[in-house]
Amino acid sequence: MDPEGLEFERERHVLFLEMMIERLPSDYESQEINHLTLAYFVISGLGIFGALDRVDKDQIASWVLSFQAHPSTKSDLDNGQFYGFHGSRSSQFTINDGEVSTHNCSHLASTYCALAILNMIGYNLSNLNCEAILISMRNLQQPNGSFMPIHLGAETDLRFVYCAAAICFMLNNWTGMDKEKAKEYIVQCQSYDGGFGLAPGLESHGGATYCAVAALQLMGFINVDISSKPAKSMVIDVPLLVEWSLQRQAVNGGFQGRPNKPSDTCYAFWVGGVLKILGFYHFLDKGALRKFLLSCQSKYGGFTKFPKNMLPDLYHSYYSFAALSLLEEEGLKPLCVELGIAAINGNGI
Ligand SMILES: [Zn+2]
Repeated sequence: MDPEGLEFERERHVLFLEMMIERLPSDYESQEINHLTLAYFVISGLGIFGALDRVDKDQIASWVLSFQAHPSTKSDLDNGQFYGFHGSRSSQFTINDGEVSTHNCSHLASTYCALAILNMIGYNLSNLNCEAILISMRNLQQPNGSFMPIHLGAETDLRFVYCAAAICFMLNNWTGMDKEKAKEYIVQCQSYDGGFGLAPGLESHGGATYCAVAALQLMGFINVDISSKPAKSMVIDVPLLVEWSLQRQAVNGGFQGRPNKPSDTCYAFWVGGVLKILGFYHFLDKGALRKFLLSCQSKYGGFTKFPKNMLPDLYHSYYSFAALSLLEEEGLKPLCVELGIAAINGNGI
């Protein structure tokens, strides 16, 4: 235990995640549609703890694979639908109303989560029908470079550009997107204050800023040595972005997603990750950030959004684990920051 009595309860967190594999608390019922995403938090969380030996990897692989949408024939790939992964069992149900069914709710975020889980548990992604995923994913890219997450029409923004980039990166194949167009869209999302909004003209936000910077990194547009490059060769305004990001660390040591908002554990990863990718992580106050994060550690295992919140949730727990990994907390694996998962030897990352 450190002098301030703040101890990272490693084993308690692993038990918390293990418990979530068996059964999710009833509060998650309304999130059934995001079942794969919840699984991503649990499996990737265990990956950060180096505790994936506690799960049955074959069982998880077949469960995840059961969510993939498959084209009936190769010509289906031109029908505008996306052949990625559904988010949950119920989203696979076909509504039989006597019409020809075009029901396919596979989603970019679920596909990112599916591939990340499979990657974490050592499944060889080349066994997937990668061609179907990548060819059909191009149908989701819009003329302005952004992505829709689903073929039926939905909001388009930076979150889905990030998912598309992470999918191409994990499959090691960039035929799924027009990288130049995606880059142009991302660049347009940088705001006057240096941060990124979810779409051009929107207010800067920690999560959107991570999506922008991590996607550019995955696409190879940010070099490790970015801080020493002359400003004119950069695709984005890095000094302004670094300043905006550093200003998100509040007096209590935590990070906020936007100015004048309270510190929230997840932004320790979203904004901290941006600083890490850009090579400016050493400028933040690490001791104060660790102290803030540990003040949100739940006695049940896991982390809460704010200090003294009663119950932990999977989302804030996962991003607290990830943030503590960035802080090099003992017993945690290093991250592949731009993919948002632990970097594990042999999984191709
Ligand atoms: Zn949050």
